[in-house]
Amino acid sequence: MGRSGDREREGAMTDWIVAGAGFTGATLAERIAAELGQRVLVVDRRDHLAGNAFDGADDNGIVHHRYGPHIFHTNSRKVWDYLSRFTDWRPYHHEVLAVVEGRPVPVPFNLESIAALFPAFMAENLSRRVIGEYGYGRKIPILKMRESGDDEIRFLADYVYRNVFESYTRKQWSLDPDELDPSVTARVPFHASRDPRYFQDVYQAMPRAGYAALFERMLSHPNIELALGTEFDDARRRHPDARVIFTGPIDEYFDYRHGALPYRSLRFVHRVEEVAFAQPVGTVNYPNDYDFTRITEMKRLTGQACGRTLLIEEYPEAYESGRNEPYYPVPTQASRALLEPYLDAARALEGRVWFAGRLGDYAYYNMDQACARALALFEKTLSRVGAA
Ligand SMILES: Cc1cc2nc3c(=O)[nH]c(=O)nc-3n(C[C@H](O)[C@H](O)[C@H](O)COP(=O)(O)OP(=O)(O)OC[C@H]3O[C@@H](n4cnc5c(N)ncnc54)[C@H](O)[C@@H]3O)c2cc1C
Repeated sequence: MGRSGDREREGAMTDWIVAGAGFTGATLAERIAAELGQRVLVVDRRDHLAGNAFDGADDNGIVHHRYGPHIFHTNSRKVWDYLSRFTDWRPYHHEVLAVVEGRPVPVPFNLESIAALFPAFMAENLSRRVIGEYGYGRKIPILKMRESGDDEIRFLADYVYRNVFESYTRKQWSLDPDELDPSVTARVPFHASRDPRYFQDVYQAMPRAGYAALFERMLSHPNIELALGTEFDDARRRHPDARVIFTGPIDEYFDYRHGALPYRSLRFVHRVEEVAFAQPVGTVNYPNDYDFTRITEMKRLTGQACGRTLLIEEYPEAYESGRNEPYYPVPTQASRALLEPYLDAARALEGRVWFAGRLGDYAYYNMDQACARALALFEKTLSRVGAA
């Protein structure tokens, strides 16, 4: 896929270079082009737009997400309204089961999970105590429950921590939970309800025609030129005076002068089965068994009608530059400390160059957060700079 405009081929001026055609870069490019009426050159080193949300059909015609399953969910009306300009939505509530002691049970762990795993009298007692202490419908961090004065609640919290969280964390990060930034561990909840959904956001849906189509529309403004398969450095050489938004890895921009920031990567294994559906929900987690962390059935997410089905297994692995993708910033205090001098270097360039996004901020953002971050950067800063 490629769309490189005439103006770009002719080497005409551009006001802005946006490196990266993912949620962050596309949102900023669209805002600058539409609101400021300025010319934007969007480059991506990959041969497609949409960043990690890129989707398309496999050899069997089954739509999948190349860089792992992407489910859109947000509580932000602003982000929802903004993206709705570029896509219709298919309502979708994601459900996740985790196989614990051989049984698939809902996660986040909830009252149904208790009922599925423990004898009825125990399940009833545990549910009663949790609801009594925290209230029905509450999401309680497991770590908080582990500090409860009630022995039964502590038993439940320890059970969930051991069977759902600890082993999954080791697989996912190759780290013990106490090596992770406490903010990550603190987020793991118990949900005192029977709500089967993985997310409770107000807006949960999938773009009806897919993510790539959404991005095509976002980047279709006449002030935007898109150059795929293009490195930022090449665009920079051709347009040395353009302002820059860089959504690639911040350490790469500065030639790794303070050391390489760590990432976790993934390997995806695709399996096609000759059945309409192979698992009861979109994703099944395997915290304790096998080497993969989870299996996602794409048709559950996309709603595609088709006689066979695609299952994608995810195997976490170490990131090696050039061999695989830098998917997840590693949430440890050491990586946070390594990031600091890069953030200082980025601040020194403000006014000409801005960093944003999953790689530019070195932060794990969901898609809505990446979009919200881009909208805020535009409104608070770039709209004023660009208008000056
Ligand atoms: C496995 C996985 C599953 C996920 N699932 C979900 C989910 O279910 N729901 C959700 O909301 N979020 C999910 N996310 C998060 C989501 O992928 C991010 O929120 C989103 O990709 C952030 O967009 P971005 O534009 O900041 O970064 P990206 O999408 O990574 O885009 C950055 C782009 O910059 C390009 N680039 C980098 N350096 C250069 C350079 N020097 N020159 C040119 N181009 C460059 C890259 O090729 C890339 O395309 C998931 C992430 C992963 C890894």
